[in-house]
Amino acid sequence: MSELRDLYQEIILDHNKRPRNFRHPEHATHQARGDNPLCGDKVTVYLTVEDGVVRDVAFEGRGCAISTASASLMTEIVKGRRIEDARELFRRFHAMVTGTEPEGIDDEDLDKLQVLSGVREYPMRVKCATLSWHTLAAALDGAAAPVSTEKPGD
Ligand code: ZN
Repeated sequence: MSELRDLYQEIILDHNKRPRNFRHPEHATHQARGDNPLCGDKVTVYLTVEDGVVRDVAFEGRGCAISTASASLMTEIVKGRRIEDARELFRRFHAMVTGTEPEGIDDEDLDKLQVLSGVREYPMRVKCATLSWHTLAAALDGAAAPVSTEKPGD
C-alpha cells in the first residue's frame, strides 16, 4: 500500500486517465519511439520544432500509469520551450527521480514534476517515469532506432 500512496497520487491518476496531448500530429518534424521492456511501456513522441522552439509535442503509446502520466506531464511542460531548455529540464528531472539532486528545486515547472519524485524509492519505476523523456531526447537527436531503457549507456 505504501507504493500506492507514494506513487499514485491524484495528479498521476488524472493524467493516466486523461492523458494530455495524446495524439499523432500530422506535421511533426521529429519523432522517436521508446520502449521499457521491464514494464512493457511503449511510447512514441512527436515534436514540431520551429526556430529552435518546441511548438508542439504529443505522444502515443501504452504503458503503466506512471509512464503515461509522466509522458502527459512532459508534453505540458516542454511545449513552447527552447530545445536546450527541454534538454535541461530532462537532466534535472532525471536527477530528481534518481535522487541525485536535493528536493525542492527552484523551478516552477520542475515543481509540477515533483509528483513523480516518489519513484526514486522504486528503481523499476524510475524507468517508467523517464521513458518519455529519453524518447523526447532521442527525437531531438533525430534518432532513427527506437530507444530502450535497457540499452547500455542509459
Ligand atoms: Zn511502467
